[in-house]
Amino acid sequence: MVSHEYLGPSSFTLTWAPARAAYLIAPESEAGMRLAIREASSRWGGLTEPILPLAESADLEPWWNQVLELSNVDGLVLVDADRGTAEQLSERTGMQLADLAHIDRDGLTSFSISPASVYSWRDDPNPPVIAQLDGDLWQLVAAGDLDDEHLADHRKTGHPVRRPSTDDGVGRAQFGDGTLIQRTLLGLDESAAFGRVGAAPAVVWLCGEEAFEECLYYWNVRALAPVGWGAFPMVLLPAHALSQWLVLAQSVRGLLIRPDEFSPDVHLTSLSLSDQELANAATLLELVPSTEPPRFSRPWPPPDLRTAPFTYLTDVDVRQPVVFERQYGSSTQIETVAARPMTTMRVNSPVTFTGHGRTLLRMASPLLDGLPRRDQVAGLVIRGAHWKDQALRVATEAQHQYLWELTVPTLREVTELLLKQGVSAYVLSDKGRLGTPLCERGQGLQHLRAPGVIASLSSLTTPRSKELLKELERVRANGMPPEAFEQLANNWGQRSERSFKNARDVIGSGGSLEALETLVGLGWAQRGLEVRCPVCGVKSFVALADTVSTGQCPGCFSEQPYTADNKQLDLKYRLSTFIDRCGDQGMMPPLLVIAALRAKSEHLYVLPGVNLQFPDGYSAETDIFGVHDGKVFAGEVKTQAVAFTQEQLEHDVDTSKRLGVDVHIMASLDEIPAETVARARELCKRAGIQLRPMSGQALLAGG
Ligand SMILES: [Zn+2]
Repeated sequence: MVSHEYLGPSSFTLTWAPARAAYLIAPESEAGMRLAIREASSRWGGLTEPILPLAESADLEPWWNQVLELSNVDGLVLVDADRGTAEQLSERTGMQLADLAHIDRDGLTSFSISPASVYSWRDDPNPPVIAQLDGDLWQLVAAGDLDDEHLADHRKTGHPVRRPSTDDGVGRAQFGDGTLIQRTLLGLDESAAFGRVGAAPAVVWLCGEEAFEECLYYWNVRALAPVGWGAFPMVLLPAHALSQWLVLAQSVRGLLIRPDEFSPDVHLTSLSLSDQELANAATLLELVPSTEPPRFSRPWPPPDLRTAPFTYLTDVDVRQPVVFERQYGSSTQIETVAARPMTTMRVNSPVTFTGHGRTLLRMASPLLDGLPRRDQVAGLVIRGAHWKDQALRVATEAQHQYLWELTVPTLREVTELLLKQGVSAYVLSDKGRLGTPLCERGQGLQHLRAPGVIASLSSLTTPRSKELLKELERVRANGMPPEAFEQLANNWGQRSERSFKNARDVIGSGGSLEALETLVGLGWAQRGLEVRCPVCGVKSFVALADTVSTGQCPGCFSEQPYTADNKQLDLKYRLSTFIDRCGDQGMMPPLLVIAALRAKSEHLYVLPGVNLQFPDGYSAETDIFGVHDGKVFAGEVKTQAVAFTQEQLEHDVDTSKRLGVDVHIMASLDEIPAETVARARELCKRAGIQLRPMSGQALLAGG
C-alpha cells in the first residue's frame, strides 16, 4: 500500500498562454517576411511574435537581440535565414529551432491554436480583414494574411476572413480593431510586466515606397507593445494614403480621444520620410506640433479626455514605451490539498477555448519554490515539463477543464537524482553517515551558530583519530619495536572514555556556560560529577541522574567522595557518545555551514560528506553536496582557511564542476583572506560556477 503524506493546503497559480515563436528571415528578405506574417496570422498571440533578420555567420544585431529577449518567446522558427547561423542562435539562447514547414506539428512552438478557436467570430457580420491578394508588404503587416492551407482551415470551421477590394479598406481596418492580426491578441494578457513607462502616445507610422525596412521595424515595435494595461493605438499607413484616402484625419482623431495621461497625442514616425514630408503629413492629419516636453504618467483619479487640436512629435524614439520585460498569459489561482506521492488538481481554464488546438500552461506554487530549476526535476513533477520564468511549463491540449496529477519530490529525492547524474557511483563517507541524522533532524543545528557553542564542543571533544594517527606515524617513522605498538594500544585503549571538564576549563578555551547549558538542553551533553578513586586509580564521570547519597566509584564500587573544589562540588560536562564522535571526526565545521545555510532558507537538503566515483575513473570526495533554495551546490569546509592552497582550490572547484553544481561553497571557521577568495572566484568563473565563500563571523548567528 502506498502511504500518503499530506503537505497541507497549497496555492497554485496557473497561466495559459500560446507557444510563441521568433521567425528568423534572411536579411532584406521580403519573401521570408511574408511567409512569417502568414504564419503569425494563423496563431493565437501571433501579433506579438517578432520577425528577425539574421545575417549569415553573424549573431543578431543588438536591437534585434533585444527584441528577441524582451519578446520572451518559447522557440525559434527558421524561415529563410542561414540554417547554420540559426542553429548557433538556438544553441546560444537554449531555445528549440523548428522549420517553418513543421511549425504546426513539431516542437514546442507547435503548442499554439488558431485565434478563431480562442475567440469565435462564426456569426460576426464583419469578419476580420486581411491583406489584398498579392498586396503590398505594409498591408500584410497592418492586417495580417493567410496562406491557402490556413484559409481552407478558416472556411472549414466557419470563420471567414475578408480581403478588401481597395488598399484603403485594408489600412482603415486598423482603426476599428478589424484586422485578423489584431484578433490574434484576443484572450491574451500580460501576466507580468517589469519596467513599463505607463500610458503612451499613439503611434502613426508612415512608410514610403521602399517599405521593407519600415515594415520590419514597425512589426517588431508593435510586437513588443503592451497588450493589456497601458496598450496604445498603433497604425501603419502608406505615404500615399494621406492624399488619396478620404477622411483619414477623422479616422486618426478617433484613436486619440484618450485620458490625458501623456503628451504628445501622437508619435508621428517614419524611417524614410523627410522632416518636411512628416510636417506636411501632420497638417493633412490635422495634428499640431507639441509645445511641451514628452511625458508618460498614470495619475489617479483618471484625468479628463484629451481634445483637439491633437499634438504630435516626430523626433522621439518610439521604442521607449515597448522596452520592458514581460510574460504573457491569462492566470487563475487555486488552492488544493497537496500530498505525496501525488497531488491531484482540477482546474478550469480562464481562456474559453472554442475549438481544437494546443497551448502552454505555466504552473507556479510555493510548493515548488525550493526545487532546482533543472529540466530533470521538472520532469519528476510532471512528465515532459520544463522550467520557464520560475514556473513549470507544460505543453498540453487546449481544454476547458484540466485534471492534473503532480508528484512533488522531496529535496532528498532531488538531491540524490542530481548527484547520480554526475557520477558513476557514490557512497556516504564515514563523516557523511555520522552527519546525515543530524542534518535530517536539523532543529539542533541552529544552536551551533550561537556564541561559544563550537568552542565548547571542541573543548569537550575527546581527541582520538587525529592524535592516534600522529602517534602511529611517529612509531612507523622511527621504526619502533613491537613493544612500542603494545604500549600505544594500551594508552589508546583507555581513551575510549569520553573526556569531561568543568565550565571553568571550557570557558578557558573559548566556550561559555550558556553554550554548555544549550548543549545539555539539546541532549548533546550531560552534567555530572567526578570520582577520583584512589583504590583502583580510575577517574570517572557520574551523570547527575546516577549520583547516589554517598559518592561511589563506578569501577570498584568503593565509597569515594565526589570531587569538590573550594568546598563546593565540581560540576562537570560530558558530550553524548554520538556528538563526541561527530566532533572527533571533524563534523562540526560542515554542520555549522549547513546551519548557516538553513538560516538563509529552509529549502535545504544536504549530504554531509560523499565519496564520489566519476565515469572516467577519477575519484574524489566532497564535504557537502545538496540543494539549497533551488540551487545545487557542493563544497569544501575547513577549520582553517590556510588549508585552501592553490592546489586544494583547483581540486575543489574541479570536483564541483564535475558534479555540475550551480554554486561552489568554500567555507572556513576563521576568516578567509580576500586574496584566497579572489583566486577561488577566478577558478569558479572559468568553470561557470557561482562561488559562495562562507567564513568566520558570517557563519555565526547574526553574522
Ligand atoms: Zn575505584
